[in-house]
Amino acid sequence: MHELAIAESIMDIALKAKVDKHLDSIRAVGVRIGVMTDIVPEALEFGFDIIVKDTALDGCCLKIERIPVRGTCRSCRKFIEVEDFVFICPHCASRDLEITQGQELDIAFIEIDDDEDTPVRGMDSNGEENTG
Ligand SMILES: [Zn+2]
Repeated sequence: MHELAIAESIMDIALKAKVDKHLDSIRAVGVRIGVMTDIVPEALEFGFDIIVKDTALDGCCLKIERIPVRGTCRSCRKFIEVEDFVFICPHCASRDLEITQGQELDIAFIEIDDDEDTPVRGMDSNGEENTG
């Protein structure tokens, strides 16, 4: 169950970003996970939900984007997208493929709860209007 260790490192990065960037509240953390990794997204989400409880990230959820296997065929130089782990070029049937995507494990974005840190204070403005 190494998803728990990964969830912990995602939490650490998000907590550090929260402190460094003075974020009030983080609503979600987006992660990109390549389909060639052996990470089970559901297990990662589940582990993350558990470990963020009672931390500064309580209530924060994980948004997982799965990255398909993509690359270039070394024979015909065409862009390819591998489906069902069949590593054969659909254009020329070569097996000589250069895989460039599908092994990601990155944090893509951190979504902050900005409703909370921008309180509405329209009532005590000086009432000037631009009637043009
Ligand atoms: Zn090819």
